Amino acid sequence: MAQRSLNFYDIANGQHVFRVKNTLYKFDVVALSRNSEFFKNMFELSTATSSDLDPIVLPDNFFEWEFEIFALIAYGRPPAPDSQVWPKAGKASPLLLRLLELSRFLMSPPTRTMALNLIKARSFTFPPALLIHLSFEYGTKVLFIAAFHRLASSPLRDLTADDVNNIGMEVFVALAKVKELTQRHRHVVAAEEPIIEAHSSMCANNLACERDWHGVWWNGMGRFLLDGRNALSWTESVERFEAVEFGEMDADCRAKMLKLTRTGDAYAHSYNWITSVAETLMGGIAEELGDLRLGL
Ligand SMILES: [Zn+2]
Repeated sequence: MAQRSLNFYDIANGQHVFRVKNTLYKFDVVALSRNSEFFKNMFELSTATSSDLDPIVLPDNFFEWEFEIFALIAYGRPPAPDSQVWPKAGKASPLLLRLLELSRFLMSPPTRTMALNLIKARSFTFPPALLIHLSFEYGTKVLFIAAFHRLASSPLRDLTADDVNNIGMEVFVALAKVKELTQRHRHVVAAEEPIIEAHSSMCANNLACERDWHGVWWNGMGRFLLDGRNALSWTESVERFEAVEFGEMDADCRAKMLKLTRTGDAYAHSYNWITSVAETLMGGIAEELGDLRLGL
């Protein structure tokens, strides 16, 4: 026997009774239609009435709480990102994927925007390959670049067969090329230290200063970036590098060159080209409505 919903039955202007699983809801046709093409079409095509005994039955593959989130959005009371409605951390991920699916079924841009916003805000709880898949599947560009960067910074061998399926061949090939290029760039950066353009006025021996900078760079950054067993990221390498011995290098020259290294110009380069490859790949995404209010 179906039960009336506590929150969505005695509702202002509620005209139609719906049943989702075993719960009855009474909704306002205008509020639903405004936020869903599915309901708009339904009410335009039918003038039939409904009641507790003869409700409009919604598809069985969705749950009550999914419709209740949609209803909150439809009634202009979307749950805040930190609302109790959302489970904590990674536990929210399946729920958000369902909500995205529901937004497509109901053709509801506001629901889609909310789901995408929350997925984006919690993107680190989703595997990057899945985010790439969602980008193509749901026609959205908002998740793509960050996900592609995450894939580009982890080893190809970590990709599972599912991941490869999710990203598709075109993205996989682009990723392999990016990684090869990044690796080559890493070798160049590791082998070529930034040039000391001008020594400090206190630097007593410019030649010794340059020689030691060259040697320390190769033995420090070179080793950290190229270590066959455990190559470090740029940021980790710089952190370690700051702690090594700098021989006869002048302290001011050293401070200046470390500052230059920290700004990471050499690495910004590879970051930018990964972004530009991601942007080219995103050209293949046909954007659907509903990202317009993401406010990115
Ligand atoms: Zn110097």
